[in-house]
Amino acid sequence: EQQNPHETEFLQAVREVFESLTPVFDKYPQYVKENLLARLIEPERIISFRVPWVDDKGKVQVNRGYRVQYSSAIGPYKGGLRFHPSVNQSIVKFLGFEQIFKNALTGQPIGGGKGGSNFDPKGKSDFEIMRFCQSFMTELQKHIGADIDVPAGDIGVGGREIGYLYGQYKRLNGSVSGILTGKGLTYGGSLTRTEATGYGAVYFGQEMLKSIGETYQDKTALVSGSGNVAIYAIEKLTQLGATVVAASDSSGFIYDAEGIHLETLKQIKEVDHERISKYVEQHPNATFTEAGDKTIWSIKTDLAFPCATQNELTAEDAKTLIANGVIAVVEGANMPSTKVATEIFQAHKILFGPGKAANAGGVAVSALEMAQNSSRVSWTFDEVDQKLHAIMEGIYSQAISAADEFGKPGDLVFGANIAGFLKVAAAMSAQGIV
Ligand code: NDP
Repeated sequence: EQQNPHETEFLQAVREVFESLTPVFDKYPQYVKENLLARLIEPERIISFRVPWVDDKGKVQVNRGYRVQYSSAIGPYKGGLRFHPSVNQSIVKFLGFEQIFKNALTGQPIGGGKGGSNFDPKGKSDFEIMRFCQSFMTELQKHIGADIDVPAGDIGVGGREIGYLYGQYKRLNGSVSGILTGKGLTYGGSLTRTEATGYGAVYFGQEMLKSIGETYQDKTALVSGSGNVAIYAIEKLTQLGATVVAASDSSGFIYDAEGIHLETLKQIKEVDHERISKYVEQHPNATFTEAGDKTIWSIKTDLAFPCATQNELTAEDAKTLIANGVIAVVEGANMPSTKVATEIFQAHKILFGPGKAANAGGVAVSALEMAQNSSRVSWTFDEVDQKLHAIMEGIYSQAISAADEFGKPGDLVFGANIAGFLKVAAAMSAQGIV
């Protein structure tokens, strides 16, 4: 805290992990002797750089780029790039820190990293996005590599941006398909990568519901956000029999009692890059509520899937969801529930799936994309989907077993932190003081 006084999101993420680890250190005193936690908290490397670009009016703009190469204990750094005006060092460090544990939980050989820029893609033309991505990659390419660090997408970085980033990398270095994941299917991408985080969160939630003898059939669900994670969480929830009645973006939320019409939402968000309020133009029975005091979490629901951004679900929201009878909360986004909100859900014994376990499906399929690129093969959609499903079941069972073993049965926050940590700790310990 003394070294990073202003990094509030980073400190929030670290504190949560710290609180879980006390019983681990009782069982493994050598990790205390090796000062393992202090070493893990310090990123191996933080790269911060200038990103100059020219907008459509000919004006020179400057943004700041980051890559945090957090931990390579179990494999090359792996984690997404976020383009959003809120990006700063605290945000990329919190995301990179969480990524270490998440990646370990997938069972794939990938370390933790994260990056991005305070660039705001909203309202920019395709050419502006392209020029920005080219400038960003001109610097980033010095620091990444298929066996060193393999970035992917995150908020504000989808298929279009990955294409421009990849194009610039290739121009500077020749074709190395394993350099980024989330690539288009025509140039080395993996089937199911687009769907993976949303589908994975729903598979994780399915395991949670199973533990109380429940399924998605005939349940109502709220999914916040309407980006990559949210859209595919809605798709899979709907396929499995739930009715998703609401979704959102930063301008507000839509409510459709009949269930969100996914084709309309995809057209608005993936094709037109428009605001979510457009939905009600085509579905007059639905309503749009502008962002303000009333949040998406005020709607009565069985299931809540926060899939937008960090700290979007507050203590007040948690209390409202509980009063309205919520059964399970599954985090598709990274750290979307505030610390107090998480504690409230747990105190009320609501099933709670933390992001670092529940949203690991995206990075897991990214690792499968790397495997396909290295061996120059392409698996079918069903093959990758089955592997994803198995990985999510595996993450759930690791987290639940660790929670049991270390004395908090059913606590997936505690269990995921411990299971992820133990893998990274064993690798770090074996490699000496580095
Ligand atoms: P997208 O950019 O595709 O979508 C983000 C969505 O969240 C948009 O609807 C956006 O609305 C909304 N949003 C973003 N910031 C805010 C904010 N400050 N307030 C309200 N709404 C906001 O991103 P993703 O779907 O890829 O990512 C969503 C979350 O999932 C993030 O936490 C990300 O880290 C996490 N995640 C993503 C993975 C992936 O594979 N993509 C993997 C694992 C985790 P608007 O358009 O109005 O900004």
